Amino acid sequence: MRRKLVIGNWKMNGSRTGNTVLLSGIVAGLASAKADCAVCAPAPYLAQCQAELTGTPLAWGAQDVSAHASGAYTGEVAASMLQDFGCRYALVGHSERRAYHGESNAVVAQKAQAALAAGLIPVVCVGETLAEREAGQTGAVVGAQLQAVLDLLDNAALAKIVLAYEPVWAIGTGKTATPAMAQEVHALLRQQVAERSAEAASGMQILYGGSMKPENAGELLAQADIDGGLIGGAALKAADFLAIIRAAE
Ligand code: PEP
Repeated sequence: MRRKLVIGNWKMNGSRTGNTVLLSGIVAGLASAKADCAVCAPAPYLAQCQAELTGTPLAWGAQDVSAHASGAYTGEVAASMLQDFGCRYALVGHSERRAYHGESNAVVAQKAQAALAAGLIPVVCVGETLAEREAGQTGAVVGAQLQAVLDLLDNAALAKIVLAYEPVWAIGTGKTATPAMAQEVHALLRQQVAERSAEAASGMQILYGGSMKPENAGELLAQADIDGGLIGGAALKAADFLAIIRAAE
């Protein structure tokens, strides 16, 4: 039985004072949480997460990580640095990174590998654009995104990653994939992993992301292959984020 996992992606939002209010609000409502949960904060606030969340059930992580271990890569943050600040997770391949920073499937896979090498759990994001969905290419697009990761990781490493299916057309738009649409892609992804390793596939948490909110979380999270959520907008309000975590229990 896979544990449910709910991760908030704050994107480029937050402030020192606002973060304290949000984090304390979430933690106050988490006393009985049975699902795993985390927030992925902007890099400058990871020290604040460590200071304010250590000893609580709320883990934290980064929104990106360098594919390189160290060196002349101005502006990048190494996985070992995230480790130093207690991160458990690192998102890799979020569609905003793929679209605005030109991250290829191969680079995303290298980032996943770098995260694993430092003991972090990479949350590998995959998803199709609206044009790709309408052209009937969803399976091929997410399949190629996943395949780059499968090509780079051995079975032991593969068993440690988290996958997130995030249809690009549903991110921040208020449009959500129906539970059946999401389940169909999640099952495809799990099948693709199973072709490499049945064990990794049956244990892998596959999250859905794309306008998940308290009103639709229950139905999405009830699907057989949806093991949690990657939450953007609704993770910025403690009450909404908590309601989604409760829906995951
Ligand atoms: C995200 O940023 O990963 C996301 C799913 O955003 P939203 O929930 O706002 O659609």
